[in-house]
Amino acid sequence: MTSETTTTPSRVPQTANDLLARRYATIGPHSPLFYRQPLELVSGSGVWLTDAQGKVYLDGYNNVPHVGHANPAVADAIYQQLLTVNLHTRYLNSRVVEYAEALLSKFDGALERLFLTNSGSEANELALRIARQHTGNTGVLVSDFSYHGNTTSLAEITTGLTVHEPLGAHVRALRIPDVSGIAEVDVPVLLEQSLADVDAAIASLQAAGHGVSVFLFDPLFSTEGLLQLPSGYIEGVATRVRAAGGLVISDEVQSGFGRTGSGMWGYQMFNVEPELVTMGKPMGNGHPIGAVVTTAELLDEFGRHNMFFNTFAGNPVSSAAGLAVLRYMDQEDLMAKADQLGKYIRKRLENIAQRSGNVGSVRGRGLFFGIDIIESDGSRNPAPALTKILIEDMRERGVLISRVGPHDNVLKMRPPLVFGREHADILLGQLELSLASLPQPGNLVL
Ligand SMILES: *Cc1c(COP(=O)(O)O)cnc(C)c1O
Repeated sequence: MTSETTTTPSRVPQTANDLLARRYATIGPHSPLFYRQPLELVSGSGVWLTDAQGKVYLDGYNNVPHVGHANPAVADAIYQQLLTVNLHTRYLNSRVVEYAEALLSKFDGALERLFLTNSGSEANELALRIARQHTGNTGVLVSDFSYHGNTTSLAEITTGLTVHEPLGAHVRALRIPDVSGIAEVDVPVLLEQSLADVDAAIASLQAAGHGVSVFLFDPLFSTEGLLQLPSGYIEGVATRVRAAGGLVISDEVQSGFGRTGSGMWGYQMFNVEPELVTMGKPMGNGHPIGAVVTTAELLDEFGRHNMFFNTFAGNPVSSAAGLAVLRYMDQEDLMAKADQLGKYIRKRLENIAQRSGNVGSVRGRGLFFGIDIIESDGSRNPAPALTKILIEDMRERGVLISRVGPHDNVLKMRPPLVFGREHADILLGQLELSLASLPQPGNLVL
């Protein structure tokens, strides 16, 4: 499965006092850790991180510190609010309303209400619940290599990560079409086949008595390895799902908050307005917040039938953190910068791809980009072992990245949104050197 979920430190704890030994003795050995030699990071600033030995790393991986590690504006907003008052939402407080207004101002159309949560998982869990109640159906369509969170009902729809729960009887996994490396003339055929698969999945849910409740998707298809969709696919799925009485949930945990550069939300890449939008990770720059944004109709319907309350969600401190993130993004025009820089990075990656025998497709959008690492023996087969070597080597070179995809061979580069051109040049320069240093066929020793 993906490297994000694998824990394979080769380092054996040296002494009982060793931090790794203490972690194993408390959190246990199964909680995932990056890198063969786990990295102990003690401080951060902007796009930079420092380890316990004082070595400095460029962060090309983390999207939670959206407006930068240890952002003083966010820290100050949290601190000032903590010094003032922090309560749940059963008392009136202006901070949460201010935040709700600010967040909803980033949406158009019928998306004009929200529920606040504490995480992306909670947001997806609630969105599924709202959709079930509204549609009267239970069937769920997801991609065949996806992750949407860790609750019981989300474990039952997880296809892209190891979980003990089997796929639910009410779940159908869709193979999402990817046009990278496919000839232009073959794209319509791929689109038609993929939409026929959707028809078949819907028919199967209906035949089994589940009906269709939702299509839940991450607009960047990031766990899947940053797929390049044929245009019209998402629109085609949405039309079919709605015709069957279902709703569309856009999981913006990865693609939201200007990450794609072209819009605040990933679904804006398509001509579809979802009924439910879920979000989390970058929303509070590390402070745990999530949300479900939806229509007035769906919120009112759910509210009429359920006394829904969430102790921590929407508290004034969380709201202050969320507000500070939105304000910082606007002040620094981070979305437009992500767009410009994303285009520059893409061009350079395409250039690197042409010159390296180990690079297949260039993927991604805005400040979420990736390249396929393939064998240079002419087979173009995915090369997960080489991908792992690259990630470890980049760490030695002082740059943090990771990998995704069903073959674990797509480099995942998704820095804080305050990443600048000078940082991109460092990352890309080191990536080129790292690619050039890869063992070539005949001398690969693992
Ligand atoms: C991380 C993630 C989630 C779950 O969010 P948590 O805050 O960890 O609960 C949901 N969807 C996607 C796409 C994610 O990447």
